[in-house]
Amino acid sequence: MAYVSSSVPLFWRLRKSKYRLIGTKCATCSSVFFPPKYFCPACRRKGKIEDFQFSGNGTILSYTVIRAAPQGFEKITPYAVAIIKLDEGTNISGQIVSSIDSIKIGKRVKAVFRKMYEDGDDGLIHYGLKWEIIEPASEQGVTTSSKP
Ligand code: ZN
Repeated sequence: MAYVSSSVPLFWRLRKSKYRLIGTKCATCSSVFFPPKYFCPACRRKGKIEDFQFSGNGTILSYTVIRAAPQGFEKITPYAVAIIKLDEGTNISGQIVSSIDSIKIGKRVKAVFRKMYEDGDDGLIHYGLKWEIIEPASEQGVTTSSKP
């Protein structure tokens, strides 16, 4: 059980650094990059690159439902991978954790930190960013379902 307890601080440490949505921004032309770029293709040598924290909010531009998954992902099929336009202005691809039925182009999403896959041989669990649909339920007050 020492194995489990020792993995908890690592989880939080990773969450703080690697898995936060930190990209870069060119202070010269305000372009944002994720994954981070350290060279602005527009400004070239005039570009001034800084770290940039994205809000983690975005909109679905397009998506694909994966039914035949690569090795290690078979158990979670079908799942959807979407291209998301971040509010700050760059696109990112990632897995949608919400039900496939609820996914539509134009829906709002937010970044969530979830298990990516489990390594079969050593039981290692890998974490990363995924995307969850934000339903505008609070605006309606009552949640209604169109399903029978
Ligand atoms: Zn630039």
